Amino acid sequence: MHSVFKCLRPAKRERLSIVFGIAEGAIDESGGGSCHTGCMKAMVLSEYKHLEMADVPQPVPGEGEVLVRVAACGICGSDVHGYDGSSGRRIPPIVMGHEAAGTVAAVGKGVTAFRAGDRVTFDSTLYCGECAFCRRGDVNLCDRRQVLGVSCGEYRRAGAFAEFVTVPERIVFKLPDAMSFAEAAMLEPVAVALHAVKMSAVRGGETALVIGAGMIGLLTMQAARAAGCGRVLIADVDATRLRVAESLGATEALHLSGAELAREVVQRTGAGADVVFEAVGRNETVVAAIDAVRKGGTVTLIGNIAPQVALPLQIVVSRQLRLQGTAASAGEYPEAIAMMSRGEIEVKPLITAVAPLEEGPRWFERLYAHEPNLMKIVLTPGEEMAG
Ligand SMILES: [Zn+2]
Ligand SMILES: [Zn+2]
Repeated sequence: MHSVFKCLRPAKRERLSIVFGIAEGAIDESGGGSCHTGCMKAMVLSEYKHLEMADVPQPVPGEGEVLVRVAACGICGSDVHGYDGSSGRRIPPIVMGHEAAGTVAAVGKGVTAFRAGDRVTFDSTLYCGECAFCRRGDVNLCDRRQVLGVSCGEYRRAGAFAEFVTVPERIVFKLPDAMSFAEAAMLEPVAVALHAVKMSAVRGGETALVIGAGMIGLLTMQAARAAGCGRVLIADVDATRLRVAESLGATEALHLSGAELAREVVQRTGAGADVVFEAVGRNETVVAAIDAVRKGGTVTLIGNIAPQVALPLQIVVSRQLRLQGTAASAGEYPEAIAMMSRGEIEVKPLITAVAPLEEGPRWFERLYAHEPNLMKIVLTPGEEMAG
């Protein structure tokens, strides 16, 4: 059944058998011939900082699983951080990619809600549905949580930088016909932004500050506005990103950081912001967030580039601040689809390029080199077939 591997050189075959969790011994080396319909193209992180296009076995949907022909998959910041091994979450070999959309190609046994041809997206989080956290609805906190396109020592789950990917039915969502696949690939970060706002218990009328005008910051800013925040300030050290933020509805854009930023926010708001969304995750930005929030306010922590920061404990305690962490999303997909369809959250201005999967390795190099003015890059594995 795994005879598809015989189209590969032995060394590569050995590495790629790991990607799909197939024991090397299980690979059938009998019979001749070349690649057949069981092969698909995938972009494999075969070693740190090295992505290559490879022919790998096309996955087969198991019970309760859906096989999706991937039409679009966005490159996430976490993929770029995983690319060089610094995050420890993309141990090679791995097919990355967890922000995707496409068409159902086949369904496994017991799948009833989807059929071949449906346009869909799917959550990046795979959850068990049975543990105490799942039963409470906190599926992002599932004890057996896995993330698509991640390999971290505990598990290895092939992602969507490939022609096909299999995902459990329970994380799949149908797309409106009018939503393009490239836009739909942005639903994952949109759901993350909606979850961050939900965790902040925004009631309407608040003044919010978003620190960091990257992808998640810009989406959180829009989500905060949509949730009723009357005034949403956004801060970044990159003026280009701030212009995008203004075009997307930020009330005020602040080209400031650190203590200067906090001072300016307090001056403009009188008491400080009601809620601060920290979408960077470094020591100085977390401290600025704590300094810029009003007494009794909430600092929602989304960014986490640094594993640790120094907490200004006395400010947090004496000003009775609430520090709220937020991770991934938990049930926000339908809302994300509806809000994007209504134009309440715009993603088009955040897409820098839509490019064939084959160009993926080059885009990763450019993102890794921090080339300026790159926001979301969406790769399209299925383009030649769709065209
Ligand atoms: Zn992501
Ligand atoms: Zn669970």
